[in-house]
Amino acid sequence: HKKPKSDIEISQAAVMQPILDVAKEKLGIEAEDLIPYGHYKAKVSLDYIDSLKNKPDGKLILVTAITPTPAGEGKTTTTVGLGDALNKIGKKAMICVREPSLGPCFGMKGGAAGGGYAQVVPMEDINLHFTGDFHAIGAANNLLAAMIDNHIYWGNKLDIDARRVSWRRAVDMNDRALRAIVTSLGGVSNGFPREAGFDITVAPEVMAIFCLAKDLADLQRRLGQIQVGETREKKAVTAKELSAAGAWAALLKDALAPNLVQTLENNPAFIHGGPFANIAHGCNTVIATKAALKLSDYVVTEAGFGADLGAEKFFDIKCRKAGLKPDCVVIVATIRALKMHGGVAKDDLKKENLEALEKGFANLEKHIENVRKYNVPVVVAANRFSSDTDDEIALLKRLCSTASTECVMADHWALGGAGAEDLAETVVKTIDTKPSDFQPLYPDDMSLWDKTRTIAQEIYGAEDITAPKPVRDKFADLEKAGFGKFPICVAKTQYSFTTNPDAKGVPLGHTIPIREVRLSAGAEFVVVICGDIMTMPGLPRVPAANSIELASDGRISGLF
Ligand code: ADP
Ligand code: MG
Repeated sequence: HKKPKSDIEISQAAVMQPILDVAKEKLGIEAEDLIPYGHYKAKVSLDYIDSLKNKPDGKLILVTAITPTPAGEGKTTTTVGLGDALNKIGKKAMICVREPSLGPCFGMKGGAAGGGYAQVVPMEDINLHFTGDFHAIGAANNLLAAMIDNHIYWGNKLDIDARRVSWRRAVDMNDRALRAIVTSLGGVSNGFPREAGFDITVAPEVMAIFCLAKDLADLQRRLGQIQVGETREKKAVTAKELSAAGAWAALLKDALAPNLVQTLENNPAFIHGGPFANIAHGCNTVIATKAALKLSDYVVTEAGFGADLGAEKFFDIKCRKAGLKPDCVVIVATIRALKMHGGVAKDDLKKENLEALEKGFANLEKHIENVRKYNVPVVVAANRFSSDTDDEIALLKRLCSTASTECVMADHWALGGAGAEDLAETVVKTIDTKPSDFQPLYPDDMSLWDKTRTIAQEIYGAEDITAPKPVRDKFADLEKAGFGKFPICVAKTQYSFTTNPDAKGVPLGHTIPIREVRLSAGAEFVVVICGDIMTMPGLPRVPAANSIELASDGRISGLF
């Protein structure tokens, strides 16, 4: 039995086409409308994208998943595989996914550019510095931090309370040593010491704004709205008052053009922006998605985490705000993960277990039911693992059909686009025969508290939400301050419908305790925090960095 090739080995064996050729042949984009970054990456100019605005939109397909388990589901892999498969059956299709963060590359092993024979390339570049977007976003974030401390240093005309500066610095690294720090030590000329901290670059509001901005003007407007802290009188201080929105926009101007790369099968892919899926909304940029819809007939995109978080935010934040209307949702499930939801331990997943599969199916069924609340048709993609048995596959299909949902086995991880042709045909047929009538879960003018309760009850199956008085007061304060129309961004564990990561399957009748609410005034959503959330990860005891090597010919190994 031959050892299967690793993701990086497969990607390094890819036969890439020059990106100028991919752009011209697959999308009709001329070289002058591209900003190449070497031979295999290019940004598509914003002027060119703007020139497409009167073209009709293609169909938008969201790939989401059941509640994640350590068994792995494969959303990105399926997004890439479905995109390649749509091209294989003769459709003009593009994919849109998030840019990976540098930090996790050196922490836990695991790529963010797909897997097996369904990957985007050049994968080392995509996973490392790529086109520098994240560095630009980090710099913009840190410019604001520097300007806050500088303002305080030079007399503090705005009367910023140094104890109440909420704006943090950012670096794209897993570095727990920077979570909580003291800045400005070392004497009078270094300013006023205060407690501060760093977040990983995917966490800050600048990243969420970057991903939701419609264009450069909208980017500047949103950056100006950011609240950085409070005055001694507890009045909010905005970034606009520090007169820096223009400077950040200048730093972000080039980054805002979407990055074009290709799949292993030379099909076009946008990889652009990468906000966290907990304190932010977890999707690639609005600009990339909208451009892709102009450039191709089918756009396959991914949202982070399971459908309760990822799809909910994709619909209620991204689609609501950007006016996007998804046409089909693909929920990725694996037989392994469903068996875990049915109570099987990770080490026993290779053994056939029909009873556990049937029990765990409840998790998939709840996600199907949830997505239907948005009036978008659903297809289940069963991402095939070699351990899946014929009886298990037959059972899963039968269970899905009792839930009136088509379930298609997809083998793109092993076979590339050819392995997901059935899935592609089913998605096309679904879009042709079941028109979507997308609507968000709650209206803009519902109160912030009721919006949160609606998500908890409708999507998490909870009885109710609870919060201590200071948190409830904050909800009321935000309404009074005029932010009541914003959508909700829930920060909650991705591993359960509840706030307890160990509660698998479909727990019912639970309550969702809210610990904190935070305003993202520039991103234009209200973050409702339920449980612990980590905005600066650490490295594990044995980080992946230990096994990454660089050969004398420049070839990287051990990166996934
Ligand atoms: P997600 O986007 O849901 O986090 P990914 O698509 O990134 O998941 O996949 C996570 C990991 O699982 C990748 O390393 C990928 O190679 C692996 N994987 C995905 N599908 C399969 C499969 N069918 N068989 C084996 N490994 C798979
Ligand atoms: Mg992914």
